[in-house]
Amino acid sequence: MSDRPASLAIVTGASSGIGFELAKRCAENGFDLLIAADEPEIHAAADELRTLGVKVEAVEADLASMEGVEELYAATRKRRVDALLANAGRGLGKGFLDQDFAEARRVVDTNITGTLYLIQKVGRDMRARGSGRILITGSIAGFIPGTYQAVYNATKAFLDSFSFALRHEIRDHGVTVTCLMPGATETEFFERADMLDTKVGQAKKDDPAEVARIGFEAMMRGDGDVVSGWKNKLQSAIASVTPAAVLAEQHKRMAKPGSGER
Ligand code: NAP
Repeated sequence: MSDRPASLAIVTGASSGIGFELAKRCAENGFDLLIAADEPEIHAAADELRTLGVKVEAVEADLASMEGVEELYAATRKRRVDALLANAGRGLGKGFLDQDFAEARRVVDTNITGTLYLIQKVGRDMRARGSGRILITGSIAGFIPGTYQAVYNATKAFLDSFSFALRHEIRDHGVTVTCLMPGATETEFFERADMLDTKVGQAKKDDPAEVARIGFEAMMRGDGDVVSGWKNKLQSAIASVTPAAVLAEQHKRMAKPGSGER
C-alpha cells in the first residue's frame, strides 16, 4: 500500500443540494474531504459521506465572513489541497427595493466576497505548488438579468466572468479553473430564497446528482466551463444572442412573486 495520503478536496456548501452531491462524487473518486457550511447540518452530511470510506472533516462556518473563510482555511492545517469546489451560495427573491438590505448583502458576501477570499488563499498555494483544480459553481443565471432576483443573478454573472479570467491567469501554473453553470436544480435553494410562489420555484428542475456529476467530470478534465443539461445549453446559447431587455422581461415572468400561483 502507498504511504502517499489521499488527495484532498474542499467542498463548500456541502450540507445539501449540489454541494453535497459534489462532495459525494469527490468521495467516490477517492478524495478525502474538508467540507463546510453555515449550519450544524454539515455534520450529518459528513457522517453520510464517511460511509463512502474516505476521511471527512466538517467545518461549521459562515463563509460570508472573512473569519469564517479563515476558519475553513486554517482547517486545512497546511495540507495539500488538490481540489477546491467553491460552491456555497444563496439566492434571494422579490423586488430589490422590497428586499431586506442585510439579506441582499449576505447574498453578495457569500456568493462573491467569501468565495473570492477562499479561492485566493487556496489558489496561491496551488500556484506555488504548480498543481490543483478549482471548480466554481456559477450559473446560467449569470447570462440573464434577474428581474425579481436581481442581486443573485448579478453575483452569478460576476462569478462566471471571474472564473474565465482567473483560469487564463493561472493556466500556465498547472492550476485549472472550471465554472459549473447549472440551470434550475431541485435543491433547497428556491425555498431558502423565498421563491416557492414563483413560476421557476414551482417548475420541474434538474437532478442535483446529475448536475454534480457533470461539474465534477468537467473539473477533472480541466474544462473551462460546463452548462449542465441540453435544455440549459440551449437556453444559454439563446441568451447570448438575445437583447438584455428581452431576457429581463422573460425572467420577470418566471420569478415575479405570485407568478407560480394557479
Ligand atoms: P442549497 O441546497 O440551498 O445549498 C446551498 C449550500 O450553501 C448549503 O450547504 C448552505 O449551507 C451553503 N451556504 C449558503 N450560505 C452559506 C454561508 N454564508 N456560509 C456557508 N455556507 C453557506 O442550494 P444549491 O442549489 O445546492 O446551491 C449550491 C450552489 O449552486 C449555489 O452557489 C447556487 O447559487 C448554485 N446554483 C443553484 C441552482 C439551483 O437552481 N438550485 C442553479 C444554478 C446555480 P447552510 O444551510 O449551512 O447555509
